[in-house]
Amino acid sequence: MIEIKDLMKTYGSKPALEGIGFHINKGEIVGFLGPNGAGKSTTMNIMTGYLSATSGSAVIGGIDVFEYPDEAKKLIGFLPEQPPLYFDMKVGEYLNFVYELKKCKLPRKPHLEEIMKVTKIIDVKDRLIANLSKGYRQRIGIAQALIGNPPVIILDEPTVGLDPKQIIEIRNLIRNLKREHTVILSSHILSEVQAVCERIIIINEGRIIADELTENIRQATGDGCDYNVKICGPQREVLSALKSVSGVAYAGSVGEREGDVYSYLIKSERGVDIRKPLFYMLAEHQWPLMGLEAAGMELEDVFVKITENDTKKHGRRMA
Ligand code: ADP
Ligand code: MG
Repeated sequence: MIEIKDLMKTYGSKPALEGIGFHINKGEIVGFLGPNGAGKSTTMNIMTGYLSATSGSAVIGGIDVFEYPDEAKKLIGFLPEQPPLYFDMKVGEYLNFVYELKKCKLPRKPHLEEIMKVTKIIDVKDRLIANLSKGYRQRIGIAQALIGNPPVIILDEPTVGLDPKQIIEIRNLIRNLKREHTVILSSHILSEVQAVCERIIIINEGRIIADELTENIRQATGDGCDYNVKICGPQREVLSALKSVSGVAYAGSVGEREGDVYSYLIKSERGVDIRKPLFYMLAEHQWPLMGLEAAGMELEDVFVKITENDTKKHGRRMA
């Protein structure tokens, strides 16, 4: 469905993309993951025909985006990083405007109503966009992308700036899209793409450093093996006992303290659940466990692990 080859982009003399290439099949839901400035938006803007590339090619549904941008755009619903909203329009007015702009042929009323239903914006249909919250605006942005029912949906940071409840709603909306559409979304937050995408393409400094099924990224990074724990007891003795618990690969003090409760970071060996042996050891010493929380894997950790693995696999030396 999507064939991207060797995209290069320089802004002035500054390289932003240094050879991005991937293939996405129909019906896949893929996440672009990478820190700010990695090149996610640049890639998406090129794929959607809104920005030219310095070299390379992008073919969507068999149509070359650089040669036939208008035809290619018809296959794509795009939510750019800054949603293209007109604040002085009412929601319903705006969607009608986009409908005209896209020269949509689907029966207008039922089509727009269906879209307002799935994006949950019917109740604000007659309100001015200027007066709506960020969560609503983001949903209107997704609604405009869905007009014309394009087979490919590309969403640039769809959940940025939303509160947790709105994030869950948008995630569900995106998950529901995947049945009929090929979906690409970008984010700089690992848990965000893990939650909705089957496959993750990690971009760093204009290059792809990993392109894996989400499940494999989890395994490669040993997700969920770090714990922040709070234990009531003498710090030095507790720490040395923690280190001797079977399955613990690392234990260290974090330096936080509340009275006689100290905080520690524990890393388990891959695939080992250390919670039971940890509990029994603490019970034996009568050191109450005051807190236990799995520490999420940070994007930085994922990069380090993946680039390490990459070096091992290819015998390359990282700069
Ligand atoms: P991301 O979306 O992953 O945060 P971008 O694609 O926006 O990354 O940016 C990639 C790089 O290109 C960054 O170093 C950014 O500063 C640069 N860049 C992006 N847009 C422009 C522009 N219009 N002019 C000059 N440099 C740009
Ligand atoms: Mg961006």
